Amino acid sequence: MKMPFDNLQAVIRCPVCDKKYLPTKILVLDEDEGRTTIHLTCESCGAASMAFISLGQFGAVSLGLLTDLEQNEAMTVFQRETISTDQVIEVHQFLKHYTGGVEGLLRD
Ligand SMILES: [Zn+2]
Repeated sequence: MKMPFDNLQAVIRCPVCDKKYLPTKILVLDEDEGRTTIHLTCESCGAASMAFISLGQFGAVSLGLLTDLEQNEAMTVFQRETISTDQVIEVHQFLKHYTGGVEGLLRD
């Protein structure tokens, strides 16, 4: 289900200067079933933020945070391959049995 984007625009404001965002400064980074991630750039003060919006039983819930990522940088981050559970377990197992120092991990 897609988010009612027009409705969201009316409620999203810049966390720094409290101005409403212009539609042209809003970039959708990721859209999923009932969940949308957007990057916002404030026309007024230039502050960039990201907002995670999800649709739940009681309506839309949003979490916003300031970021120093530009829109194109944020897009690059979101297009990367996600880390799988297997990869996390693999790293955990490796570190569990690893006896070397930190320098050894940084070497290729
Ligand atoms: Zn602002």
